Amino acid sequence: MSGDHTSSAVSARVRSVEAFLESRGLLDDGEIDRRIDEFLAGGSPVNGARIAARAWVDPGFAERLLADANSAIRELGLTMAGGLQEQRLKVVANTVDEHNVVVCTLCSCYPIALLGPSPGWYKSEAYRSRVVRDPRGVLREFGVELPDRTRISVWDASAESRYMVVPRRPAGTEDLPEEQLAGLVTRKGLIGTAVV
Ligand code: FE
Repeated sequence: MSGDHTSSAVSARVRSVEAFLESRGLLDDGEIDRRIDEFLAGGSPVNGARIAARAWVDPGFAERLLADANSAIRELGLTMAGGLQEQRLKVVANTVDEHNVVVCTLCSCYPIALLGPSPGWYKSEAYRSRVVRDPRGVLREFGVELPDRTRISVWDASAESRYMVVPRRPAGTEDLPEEQLAGLVTRKGLIGTAVV
């Protein structure tokens, strides 16, 4: 169960499984709701911003993050296992040559633990269908104008896999401490629809 990719038929089946487990005493009354509430309450773009800022100041962390994000974010006390099942996280980093942007073409899968609930535009049919066909055009509408030589990679999330973008560190921030760097990172930056 992902919270996404559901239909009313699936919801009904999930409810009947919950009721069965509760009747057998395998699950406390309301445990699933409680776990999901905890999961949602902990999710905030502040988490994603902390990850990006750490990657900017610590090249070793950045390397571990890109290789195995699920393990690396635990170094910051964060996890993708807050729900009922750990979601696989892949983190991609923007460079001069490549800009990354995240979408869920099927519905609205999103790294809630790191970014909080997703914005309305992320779930919109217009964004989901167009960002794949014309990423440069969609980014332009978000005010992101990329040089022609910058390649754009679009990452399509799913029920099992979530993506997050590490924006490029802004120029002139060499002297800023990590905490202030985190303050520069926006939710859109972590999705790829803003530069930072
Ligand atoms: Fe989805």
